Amino acid sequence: MKTIGLIGGMSWQSTIPYYQILNESAAEQLGGLHSAKLLLWNMDFEEIASLQRQNRWQEAGAVMAAAAVKLQQAGADAIVICTNTMHKLVPDMLPELQIPILHIADATAMAIQQAGLRKVALLGTRFTMEDSFYVSHLREHYGLEVIVPDAAARQIVHDVIFNELCVGVEKESSRAQYREIMAALVQQGAEGIIFGCTEIPLLVDQSDAAVPVFDTTTLHATYAAKWALASI
Ligand code: GLU
Repeated sequence: MKTIGLIGGMSWQSTIPYYQILNESAAEQLGGLHSAKLLLWNMDFEEIASLQRQNRWQEAGAVMAAAAVKLQQAGADAIVICTNTMHKLVPDMLPELQIPILHIADATAMAIQQAGLRKVALLGTRFTMEDSFYVSHLREHYGLEVIVPDAAARQIVHDVIFNELCVGVEKESSRAQYREIMAALVQQGAEGIIFGCTEIPLLVDQSDAAVPVFDTTTLHATYAAKWALASI
């Protein structure tokens, strides 16, 4: 079994399922008392979110690269970034590493391809929905057509993530807003919906949408578990 180096804490609520899924996968596949070999670098999310808000991405990239290098030095065989948004900084991290980063968009795109879908909608932070790093990864590597909500809806999706889900608040009114936003995207032809923020599955699930949903937290953690266990 290989050792996964998790960069988490963004938010800590969404790092919990990574820990759980990786351990459950090891126990399921290997039986007995097996659990996952993990290292966790947990960020203070306020420090990171403050850099995001101020558009200080270069500094955030340096912080992420430093964390990845520490995990590599501690014995990680691969890095898993437990947030979609911070994959924006993969290009800043890779030159510092001799080990791979298991990309969340790869895990997600493979599941979408397996489901036979081509046009999907993306929900996430405004950075994930509006910057090109995520959408272009899905388009260029997997030929997917990706749509995002309109500006007003993007603001709602983003604000619910940071003001509610990242601080452990779950509101029925926000769930209703997400349902409406997803229904509008289906009207625009979305055949599936990517929960492209690791907190979104804390609020909504498959029962809230009329088309298949892709929970990036579960898909990413499962992909990492498969990678770690494939070497046995
Ligand atoms: N966890 C979220 C994501 O998957 C947002 C937190 C962040 O900005 O990193 O994008």
